[in-house]
Amino acid sequence: MGVKRWLEAWPVYRQLTGTDPLGRGKAAQSARSAGLAPRTEGADRVADSVCPYCAVGCAQRVYVKDERVVQIEGNPDSPISRGRLCPKGSASKQLVTGPHRERKVRYRPPYGTEWQDLDLDTAMDMVADRVLAARRKGWQDTDEAGRKLRRTMGIASLGGATLDNEENYLIKKLFTALGALQVENQARI
Ligand code: SF4
Repeated sequence: MGVKRWLEAWPVYRQLTGTDPLGRGKAAQSARSAGLAPRTEGADRVADSVCPYCAVGCAQRVYVKDERVVQIEGNPDSPISRGRLCPKGSASKQLVTGPHRERKVRYRPPYGTEWQDLDLDTAMDMVADRVLAARRKGWQDTDEAGRKLRRTMGIASLGGATLDNEENYLIKKLFTALGALQVENQARI
């Protein structure tokens, strides 16, 4: 390698002599990084979404290739987040694709020491049976003076920050229809 080429391979030299005096662009680029392309470039399509982690609701762009999520980035079209994501939102691709994501229903019965795998239909039936039983058990038709209450104190809903407006709307409708009074949500933003 000649001296000139050797010098040009040196980032400080390029920074001092080139058009990138702050060393944040071409001056800092290696041959390897110059050959890299962003994951977003080869995506088949991009879906608009919302970060599932908290109530700020930052907008996301979800890049998909071969029906698999390859990257998730902030959506600059959002008037709320304007393309930004916090570290949690930036890492949300792992929520979808991470190897630790649980993909089966796991059930540990009362006093059980081992987890069991259930199919989703069985698990949903079990949840429905328990909701109905708790509702019935906690049902209050009237108070001591005979005034109508027609409510249950046997079930409650505590929502998390990842629920969006539409989900909260449906949860409120469902629990109110079941006669529950205690409908709360953790989100306070
Ligand atoms: S977790 Fe972060 S990126 Fe996601 S909505 Fe909240 S602030 Fe936005």
